[in-house]
Amino acid sequence: MHKSDREHAGLIRMSATHGIRAYERYAGKETIRRIEAKARPLRDMHILHMNSTYYGGGVSQLLSSLTLLLNSLGIQTGWRVVHGPPDFFSVTKKFHNALQGAEINLTGRKQELYEEVIRENAMRNHLNHDMVFIHDPQPLPMIAHYRKKSPWIWRCHIDLTAPNPKVWNYLVPFIEKYDAVVLSSREYRQNIRTPQVFSMPAIDPFSIVNRELSESAIDERLAHYGIPTDLPLVVQVSRFDRWKDPLGVIRAFEKARREEECTLVLVGNVATDDPEGAEVYRSLLAHRGERVIIQSVQDGALVNALQRRAAVVLQKSIREGFGLTVSEAMWKGAAVIGGNVGGIRYQIRDGENGFLVSSVDEAAARIVQLLRDPDLRARLGHAAHETVRECFLFTRSVEQYLDLIGSFEPDFRLREMKEPSCGGSANPGGPGREP
Ligand code: UDP
Repeated sequence: MHKSDREHAGLIRMSATHGIRAYERYAGKETIRRIEAKARPLRDMHILHMNSTYYGGGVSQLLSSLTLLLNSLGIQTGWRVVHGPPDFFSVTKKFHNALQGAEINLTGRKQELYEEVIRENAMRNHLNHDMVFIHDPQPLPMIAHYRKKSPWIWRCHIDLTAPNPKVWNYLVPFIEKYDAVVLSSREYRQNIRTPQVFSMPAIDPFSIVNRELSESAIDERLAHYGIPTDLPLVVQVSRFDRWKDPLGVIRAFEKARREEECTLVLVGNVATDDPEGAEVYRSLLAHRGERVIIQSVQDGALVNALQRRAAVVLQKSIREGFGLTVSEAMWKGAAVIGGNVGGIRYQIRDGENGFLVSSVDEAAARIVQLLRDPDLRARLGHAAHETVRECFLFTRSVEQYLDLIGSFEPDFRLREMKEPSCGGSANPGGPGREP
């Protein structure tokens, strides 16, 4: 939508609550000036992001912040969501699980349902933008229904360490229609014709989940949910998803509390595109108790309060594309124990700014160690905050988006991109680009 179109559409000039200049206090003047300079030639481009949910899960968090900030930089950025019946999301969750390595019975019925719902979405959505970003597998086949007039990018947020070949091979013909694929880590690189670039997500310090909170606001949120604060809190915040290993967290906690008194709080939400969430939540309820609080609720301020007040934050995933919750807690100076998998390993350096664990026993031992040693918690938390400031703040990710948007030739070919200093790598001419 060019400026005159926007005016026709009746849009009043608006600005984001936190425009790019507000980020100066975290990212420094130089970074902000660089971002402004990179955005200038892209002004009035019309860009679209499409994913499968407006809330619940990291992608919707990222898109909430990104779409507002790109608009405030003058890039007309829209956000659409796939519409589909529950059985569509049940199929796409199975694809998601299979891409993270699970088995799948890939029947013709599943493929038909998937492709048919996306065909319907393609009919309803008129995508004639200057660039289209499609996030994750749910809307992936959209591209098959358009005569391409601009670059299309598939942004996959999933841990692709060991994708199930049945699903991967089924999806490859769709993926190879794209002009670029963005993955969170070079380790997820696949053998495809499309150029692959690598960029890790990042957290927005102004989002409800991350913005500063007073001690009284923290107290208020915890009291609202009846969370006791008489003992140290051990916290995991995650969608109710088996890849987040909530049962492993409960087991580790049960073991740790035999040595150190503490309270476990598991908070999760259920994303609209994740039909397994309610079932995983129900399966945990038998473990609820006076010291085991399990809350299914969508409340960003509660997440914020818990990450700030916790003595120990866990993210004991067994697969994790990135794990925004890790950087979110680290930003708040928490001592974080993360599963030694996927994107978590790029955020936590074991023993320096948190701990990495590979089993329930290791997690339990680290909980006990941290509960007993406030100095260690403070040291790790301080280093964790610095790690996020250097590598996992939103401004770094915004700059990488701008670099990518500005890197296509008129024939949609992706030009070679410079390797960023941290938070990912983007070099389609390097080993990431495979025939
Ligand atoms: N989140 C939330 N409420 C919850 C659970 C999660 O607001 O009850 C947020 C969390 O703070 C993070 C995002 O949802 O911003 C989850 O992103 P992550 O990358 O950790 O995992 P994903 O759900 O995408 O697998």
